[in-house]
Amino acid sequence: MKGKVYLVGAGPGDPELLTLKALRLLRSADAVLHDDLVAPEILKLIPPTAQIHNVGKRCGKRKTVQGEINRLMAELAMSGLSVVRLKGGDPMIFGRAGEEIDSLRRNNIPFEIVPGVTSAMAAAAAIQIPLTHRRGSSALVFITAHQASEKGASEADASDWSKFVASGATLVIYMPGQNYADIAKRLTLAGLDADTPCAVVSRATTKNQRSHRTTVLDLPRAPQLASPTLLVVGEVVRLSNPAALVAEFIVPELLPLQRPTEIRAQ
Ligand code: SAH
Repeated sequence: MKGKVYLVGAGPGDPELLTLKALRLLRSADAVLHDDLVAPEILKLIPPTAQIHNVGKRCGKRKTVQGEINRLMAELAMSGLSVVRLKGGDPMIFGRAGEEIDSLRRNNIPFEIVPGVTSAMAAAAAIQIPLTHRRGSSALVFITAHQASEKGASEADASDWSKFVASGATLVIYMPGQNYADIAKRLTLAGLDADTPCAVVSRATTKNQRSHRTTVLDLPRAPQLASPTLLVVGEVVRLSNPAALVAEFIVPELLPLQRPTEIRAQ
């Protein structure tokens, strides 16, 4: 008897940004395996009858290695359960979905992918900028600085980013870490003008959303905002709304969700 695995995007934090499909699957799940980044408000939507496994892999804390996650997913699905593998944002962006898909295919387990709102979109909404602009930027690049913060800036690293900088694309840097000086150095070594505007956006679409606008030159002196943060770099950042940069994001209280049968009974 085989169940099924759903690789589901939980979105950036605000539960209202879940897709209807994600909500339906969560509410009918037998088991949910989730990452640390998934907002507590979203975890509250999982029915008490479902098994919940936190397989978060955040640095410093106890982490579940990828192999264990793959094994657990396979075991649960093979015992006939409907398994939701819930990831922050979109499952296919910096979410190690590739490894999980590989493993599901090797084990011949049926699976489906449910996209989510990636945090780059949430950050753009937070500071009220378009990520592309007819006159400003016609391309968008998602990159990660994860390796940069581990290895430090070097000419070899910078050459990795120079092709993106040369394209004039808006850059969205996932996992920027705390070393903004390192990122600023990589960007300038890659050929970016030091006066290019950029913004750090923290906890986009949550009650604790914060952001800070600066330039690549001043980025090393930007305040360290609470993680998770994203860095948006490019001319489009000039269009950000100064009011939006300080405003708090209002996350409405979730109304108790009614099941269709309850609605019909009224
Ligand atoms: N799959 C996720 C990304 C996972 S990598 C997505 O599509 O968004 C984890 C990184 O995502 C974090 O280090 C941070 O850079 C970014 N991130 C996730 N949620 C965020 C949020 N609410 N606000 C700002 N950045 C966020």
